[in-house]
Amino acid sequence: MTKLSKHFTLEELTRTSVPDGNVLSAEALECLRTVCSSVLEPVREHYGRPVLIHSGYRSAAVNKAVGGSPSSQHMKGEAVDFHVSGHTVYDVAVWISDNLDYDQLILENFVPGIGASGWVHCSFARRNRGNDLTKFRGSKIYYPGIVLSPQG
Ligand SMILES: [Zn+2]
Repeated sequence: MTKLSKHFTLEELTRTSVPDGNVLSAEALECLRTVCSSVLEPVREHYGRPVLIHSGYRSAAVNKAVGGSPSSQHMKGEAVDFHVSGHTVYDVAVWISDNLDYDQLILENFVPGIGASGWVHCSFARRNRGNDLTKFRGSKIYYPGIVLSPQG
């Protein structure tokens, strides 16, 4: 087990159902450490609850196999998808938006009223844009902001 930060391991951040090894470069490893220390650890500390990783680093082959965007920051080790045990991803996304420095924050597939739905996608880059988006389940449209409906 390789620790990337106090609460997160390389194994959690590279786990995939695609059997290709998901091997990462030294540069991507550094980016993973940064997203752990800059995003995941502050979230873990604020909520004091387990942060469950859905997807972290993806090799180009893994990203393609799971239908990721061709320019996905997951391929650089800059992005992570997760939820916090016992909290909605909407609440977590709003907290991140209000409190952390990040490149891109996306509330993905959250369904209001269904507590365990969706995940938070958050990236950390060399030059952070602080860009907030919401994508609803079954839609390919990215709406500006962290919102509960397409009307905001
Ligand atoms: Zn993602």
